[in-house]
Amino acid sequence: MSLLVRDPFVDGRPLSIYVEGGRIAALGEDRPADRVIDARGLHAFPSLANGHTHAAMVLFRGSGDDLPLMAWLTEKIWPVERHLTEDIVYRAARLAILEMIRGGTTYFMDMYWHRDGVARAVKEMGVRAHLSEVFIDMGDPARARAQRERTQARLADADRFGPRVRTALGPHAIYTVSDESLQWIGEMSRRHGLIVHTHLSETREEVEACRARTGTTPARHLERLGLVSERLVAAHGVWLSDEEIVLLAGAGATVVTNPVSNLKLAVGGIFPYREARRAGLRVALGTDGAGSNNNLDLFEEMKFAALLAKHRTGDPTCLPAREAFALATTAAAGAFGLGSGRIETGAPADLMLVDLSAPETTPLNDPVGALVYAAHASCVHTTICDGEVLMENRRLSVADEDEIIAAARDATRELFARAGGSA
Ligand SMILES: [Zn+2]
Repeated sequence: MSLLVRDPFVDGRPLSIYVEGGRIAALGEDRPADRVIDARGLHAFPSLANGHTHAAMVLFRGSGDDLPLMAWLTEKIWPVERHLTEDIVYRAARLAILEMIRGGTTYFMDMYWHRDGVARAVKEMGVRAHLSEVFIDMGDPARARAQRERTQARLADADRFGPRVRTALGPHAIYTVSDESLQWIGEMSRRHGLIVHTHLSETREEVEACRARTGTTPARHLERLGLVSERLVAAHGVWLSDEEIVLLAGAGATVVTNPVSNLKLAVGGIFPYREARRAGLRVALGTDGAGSNNNLDLFEEMKFAALLAKHRTGDPTCLPAREAFALATTAAAGAFGLGSGRIETGAPADLMLVDLSAPETTPLNDPVGALVYAAHASCVHTTICDGEVLMENRRLSVADEDEIIAAARDATRELFARAGGSA
């Protein structure tokens, strides 16, 4: 299957993109192709990567708004999540992926229950993802055993969802997973070369509790347990100290900042972007779950990340638009081994075509500045992943949007009915 994207603007000049075998095979040549998209007047960019989310949590959108993190988790989320089924998660993940595709996102790093439900949705809708079954044992040896068995079972059949689905390990956090299990996860990561996707240093309380229990900081604690490496993807990092940032940077780890979720849950701090950048720490961008966001729009995240970094430092030159865009594209591609994030011959054809003729992006002085500071997900016209057109002219090619939305509504009703309450 070949694809010609005819004459979109690339870095300000019209340039045709010819795609074959899922990769950009030629630039600036109008070769005959199985499918042609007339992209004149549109702007082509690498598509976006969501570095931290819980896709199926779209079902919790608007449920438990305006609560602190621990109250939200213990009162609103965990009691209901016990009633999830694989099919409910599947229907929820389809809704999340629909929203992502409509916002130019073709990759996400996920952590959730019932991985197979998410994996089916990813395969069906054609995006890419690293999926991890969330691991929580709360120090209970029986729970730890069951979770280890489940993790091993997931690893054993990781390939059955096709090449766009990859497996990661998903210990929830240092306060929900025992030290023994974290050590075991570190060993699994080393042995199988797997990414470890966890939450780290999200709230001040987490840092204080860690210091009280272990005598050290969260990142140092993870390092002692053998989890700090280039395979570590740590979400949040709001309260990381300078010493922890240097430690994580030195190991080649990635921290994913989720500015909107952090603001909504009022975690009290702002991710220390300037310090991270100085230390050479790899930083990517995420939305977190829709329960704490409440959408999966990476355009909002780019803007919030940039504004917060400026506000925190009192320096408007901190985290400029190009760097904010890179967090969701090139930096993510490097961190997650995607190879995308660039419009170059040989790169994976993970692309979005954006219409920057909308009122909010007119006049167009700087396309990247417009993307970061003015555009919304709704400006995305066409989304392409692995050379496959997932959406063209805002119409989904790979599934029926109305059916997905209706099925997700049903899944929400079913879940809350099972849990004996209402959303
Ligand atoms: Zn999260």
